[in-house]
Amino acid sequence: MAFDSLSSRLQMAMRRLTGKGKLTETDIDEMMREVRLSLLEADVNLKVIKTFINNVKEKAVGQKILSGLNPGQQVVKIVFDELKRVMGDESVGISYKINGLTVIMTVGLQGSGKTTAIGKMGAFIRKTEKKKVMFIAADIYRPAAIDQLKTIGKQLDIFVYDEGMNKAQTIVKNGLTYAKENQYDVVIIDTAGRLHIDEAMMQELVDVKEIAKPDEILLTVDAMTGQVAAQVAESFHNQLNTTGAIVTKLDGDTRGGAALSIREISQIPIKFASSGEKMDSFEAFHPERMASRILG
Ligand code: GDP
Repeated sequence: MAFDSLSSRLQMAMRRLTGKGKLTETDIDEMMREVRLSLLEADVNLKVIKTFINNVKEKAVGQKILSGLNPGQQVVKIVFDELKRVMGDESVGISYKINGLTVIMTVGLQGSGKTTAIGKMGAFIRKTEKKKVMFIAADIYRPAAIDQLKTIGKQLDIFVYDEGMNKAQTIVKNGLTYAKENQYDVVIIDTAGRLHIDEAMMQELVDVKEIAKPDEILLTVDAMTGQVAAQVAESFHNQLNTTGAIVTKLDGDTRGGAALSIREISQIPIKFASSGEKMDSFEAFHPERMASRILG
């Protein structure tokens, strides 16, 4: 399970403090060294680690915690708060239109779990928001991607608008007209993913964005890719002004770096966590719950 290793290392570092009646600055320094190592091992971005360590240390030493009651537990609380802050503090959801069609465009590298996440998100929105959801298949470079989305659509009984390998902008334009004519509430657009970010890919996404005028542009990032995920998120955000991220494959043996780095590096909030091959393994991302999971 994701975070297992980070979890056990952090817990070990904290446990040494909790039993103590009094803490010295050396105790804190030792613990921070351990925390730093655990974050490095979890593949958290270096800048994020530096700020994390500085913030925790400043609070732990600065607030007369050392001479207070249960100093160890207070330090654990400080680390918890910092984990929560790094992941964005509050849970951020989708901005739905009050009247009319809400358009969600999804972007991401090939293999990041985009198509799977679209299926899960569609089912999630239908269930939690009671909205009528439709997909648009505009990942036109791989016929397999269109088929995959149609298979998922069939499985979930969600309509997939497709025009085969027609031009992405045309498909999106026609798909949105279809959705409006048929009283859908939410459209989720699948777009082309490539193995690497390149100019042609970004340009196509910019063009699709212009046509779709999406309410949300959500980026899927593979949790397994650690801090690289944060760099990917930053590039996409710079070009497209993405509104959120979906962290995928959180069920795998991931080290946690992606979830802890994306927000600080790219500034985009993580909105959803996708954690498995089953269509219902999808949930809103809650920084507080995730921090609790990490600290056990
Ligand atoms: P896309 O190329 O970005 O559309 O990615 P896909 O949705 O096709 O996913 C790529 C691979 O990752 C597939 O084998 C999926 O079954 C797998 N996958 C996607 N999401 C998850 C997840 O949350 N957990 C796990 N374990 N595998 C996933």
